[in-house]
Amino acid sequence: LVRLTGVRKRFGDHQVLHGVDLEVARGEVLCLIGASGSGKSTLLRCVNHLERPNAGRVYVGGELIGYEERGGRLHELHERRIRAQRARIGMVFQHFNLFPHLTVLENVIEAPTRVNRQPREPATRAARALLDRVGLGDKVNAYPRSLSGGQQQRVAIARGLAMRPELMLFDEPTSALDPELVGEVLDVMRDLAAGGMTMIVVTHEMGFAREVATRVAFMDGGRILEQGTPRQVLADPRHERTRSFLSKVL
Ligand code: ATP
Ligand code: MG
Repeated sequence: LVRLTGVRKRFGDHQVLHGVDLEVARGEVLCLIGASGSGKSTLLRCVNHLERPNAGRVYVGGELIGYEERGGRLHELHERRIRAQRARIGMVFQHFNLFPHLTVLENVIEAPTRVNRQPREPATRAARALLDRVGLGDKVNAYPRSLSGGQQQRVAIARGLAMRPELMLFDEPTSALDPELVGEVLDVMRDLAAGGMTMIVVTHEMGFAREVATRVAFMDGGRILEQGTPRQVLADPRHERTRSFLSKVL
């Protein structure tokens, strides 16, 4: 479903991604781990063109993301086309980024009704079902500020699902939460994975990676240093750098 080839990204003269190749099959849950600054967020943001790669290609569902090829060269797509591509990819951030002036329900139907021009009634029905699914069926009319961090993050997940994405990206979705709220968010993500959603998850939750990931990739200095099953990478890493990272987080 996802294929990255030779993706490079630099900010000024700081090369952050050094040519990343990565494939994620439909239904896979890939956990991306690695030290702070290793390029995990940047890589994730390249998948939906929130960052524009300086070289390389990103395909989702066979479609080249962010660019089109004309005369053997890549030209960036119009912002409208990029937004349409992005709509098929759900993203959940560390900070929930909910609209504070909108209720929970309004947050979830915002994109389907505004971007996809879905009529309000079916969008509302779908949103209620999603909110039930993340355990917030009784909070549809609440405002984000009245919710706990864990509840807000579950709303953000429901909002990400509202566009019926074929791929969900998560960037440290639990690292801003109080420890006692982490579990409820991971449970929702676990359900999503069990339902067959393709997911790329940047996380420091090694328990989640061990139990839910179909594959774990370790990033180091803008490269994927190794990847494999959770058992291989977490329990028996091949590289000293992976081992040293794990000894700090496990
Ligand atoms: P963390 O675990 O702290 O979230 P990360 O692995 O997600 O780290 P990135 O956020 O991808 O790392 O950042 C990789 C490097 O790129 C860092 O050195 C960072 O300072 C730099 N960087 C990221 N975004 C920008 C930007 N918009 N402008 C300049 N430098 C950036
Ligand atoms: Mg990051």
